Amino acid sequence: MTVQLWYGRAFGGTLMKRCCLNVSVIVSVVALGGIASAQDLGPNFRKIKDGIYVQSAREVNSTVGIVLTSEGVVLIDTGQTLVDSRQVADAVKKLTPLPVRFVINTEVHPDHTTGNFVFAPPAVVINHAGASDAMRKADNPNRFATAAPEIKAAAEGYRLVAPHVEYQDKMTLRVGERTFELLRVRNAHSEADTAVWLPEERVLFAGSAAIPNSLNNVRPFVTIADLLAAARMLRSLNPEVVVPGHGSFGTTKIFDESEKYYTLLLERVTAMVKAGKSREQIGMELRMPEYAGWAYQERMPSNIDAAYRAATGR
Ligand SMILES: [Zn+2]
Repeated sequence: MTVQLWYGRAFGGTLMKRCCLNVSVIVSVVALGGIASAQDLGPNFRKIKDGIYVQSAREVNSTVGIVLTSEGVVLIDTGQTLVDSRQVADAVKKLTPLPVRFVINTEVHPDHTTGNFVFAPPAVVINHAGASDAMRKADNPNRFATAAPEIKAAAEGYRLVAPHVEYQDKMTLRVGERTFELLRVRNAHSEADTAVWLPEERVLFAGSAAIPNSLNNVRPFVTIADLLAAARMLRSLNPEVVVPGHGSFGTTKIFDESEKYYTLLLERVTAMVKAGKSREQIGMELRMPEYAGWAYQERMPSNIDAAYRAATGR
């Protein structure tokens, strides 16, 4: 039996071709995926380039990267919640019969890593050295005790899956036709932060060092010098598309904005320190009206702390 169908765009984004195939071949072509469009996957999915998708249910939520290759799927993070993780698992099944081979965590926090168990095994989880220790320390197996029913249902079978592989500074991962460069982003957000750079596609999964239109939670080990260095290092890769750890994907403007914000914050706090003001006075008097529209204003004290540490050399 011979039928005609349109197909193409399986993994590499080839042009649509009209072909005659017998039924058994059709089944395998359909199963090979790439036929599902971002719309077919649901409202929370966006296509970046052929074979590269992102999932996020809300603007401030963490982002999952889904990268198809001829040898299987590479995920970058596993979802804000376990409902997101399950949604990503379903989307992967629509896109390809191939398994998720690797999960790269861009940080250690639960809104990027709790869903690791949904994919591993068979997936191998990777992050920079220090990730496993930090995740084991912070793990709370009772975290779902008071969760909403849909989260509890999605948490069926939960167990902590910390990275199986921890690299130092830089690692290259080659899967099928794609190259992934894993780059350590030092002291920028969590105990172990990784940016994932696809040099051929010029897509950068930047992690949470710079998130658009949001104040970040600047933890005590994070320095403004390292945040500025992160923005410069990531921008110097010259990516075409930047996927931040949270929020919509965009361009290197995300790094420009972040750099501008921290530079101004540091400038204002330094002037106040020079004028003899205490940390408490600075907290009460500092104004950043240019960024009043950014999300998570309640994180401002942690930002002032970081600027104060930098200004006083502590
Ligand atoms: Zn985080």
